[in-house]
Amino acid sequence: MSDQILVINCGSSSIKFSLVDPEAGTHVLSGQVERIGSDSGFLSWKGAVQGENELGPTDHRGAMHAIVKVLRDSELDFAGIGHRVVHGGEHFTASCRINDESLEVLRAHQHLAPLHNPVNILGIEASRTAFPDKPQVMVFDTAFHQTMPRRAYLYALPHHLYTEHGVRRYGFHGTSHRYVAARAAEQLGRPLADLALLSAHLGNGCSAAAVLGGKSMDTTMGLTPLEGLVMGTRSGDVDPSLHEHLCNTLNLSLKEISALLNKQSGLLGLSGGHSNDMRTLLQAEAGGHEGAALAVEVFCYRLAKALAAQVVALGRLDALIFTGGIGENSTPVRARTVALLPFLGLHLDSAANEDHGRANRGIITTTDAPCAMVVQTDEELLIARDTASIILQPEISP
Ligand code: AMP
Repeated sequence: MSDQILVINCGSSSIKFSLVDPEAGTHVLSGQVERIGSDSGFLSWKGAVQGENELGPTDHRGAMHAIVKVLRDSELDFAGIGHRVVHGGEHFTASCRINDESLEVLRAHQHLAPLHNPVNILGIEASRTAFPDKPQVMVFDTAFHQTMPRRAYLYALPHHLYTEHGVRRYGFHGTSHRYVAARAAEQLGRPLADLALLSAHLGNGCSAAAVLGGKSMDTTMGLTPLEGLVMGTRSGDVDPSLHEHLCNTLNLSLKEISALLNKQSGLLGLSGGHSNDMRTLLQAEAGGHEGAALAVEVFCYRLAKALAAQVVALGRLDALIFTGGIGENSTPVRARTVALLPFLGLHLDSAANEDHGRANRGIITTTDAPCAMVVQTDEELLIARDTASIILQPEISP
């Protein structure tokens, strides 16, 4: 039997899949079905085999069938399936085997992430139907942050909202923060248990986390992935009275305000609708676009401010990690952010930053301790590794 793991990341209009070798850390095949729910579903894949296919109108089940066909035709086998799940609430503090019982508990948590968990569950159900003989595991975005102390996860709200309704900060991007913290320790040649790390995951979604001795102590996202940093189209932190203000002044409904904060804000909103994409904005800024310059300026300032706040949870700092599409690739964003943090002992080495730290274990500052560093994230690999280790364990019946 193959040791490879099929990793599935099911979103509302797409399913991404990847066949990963957890030992070698390689991606054998990766692909995605896009535009699920429209009349023009589209499947593409590359790696050991490659191709693309117009699927026409399709739902999640149809998309999963198309993925199964690609895998069968490729004759690539796998030992099990790992699913990315956005919200595990307080129940799931680690990755877990999928069976009828655990799926039932997950269903009971749907209300915590109404945009994400229902589609994650759809993906799991479709994949259990397609591959009834393969063991399957769910890996949560929230689980890593379950070590946060109560002072970090509680909102200053009436306490029964937490005890009776689960209103608290959960945090997300846990697979990425956990993966890069461990990789940073390897790159630095120091035990993870000894390190005080700040992890800045900067992609379309952005969050920072304080990781002490390998455990999450605080993070910028909260009950939902809207809280915290400026993101591609998400506002991050705003005044909680903004809803009332927009309702009173512009007569907007809750649904409209939610769409505005999630889909029309962040880099896109600040740049006057120019783009949610950092690379595009940096190019536009270089060409004199004022909105783009403003978006990048606010993004870096808010990031630096949040990172400084996260250091409170650590008490000291060994390394600031930059990861995600922006963190790994954007030299100017890293430079501008580090320039705002000299009081943390961080001083940029411009040549090392231009080179993404490749010459010195990812380090882009003039000192090794504390340092800022670039670490490539690989959430699929972490999901594959968790899956491989869980499916090796005997299944305990309830
Ligand atoms: P992710 O969600 O991790 O794929 O990250 C997407 C973000 O990374 C987008 O804002 C991209 O513009 C940004 N990104 C990717 N490559 C670069 C680059 N070379 N320079 C600046 N931003 C980049």
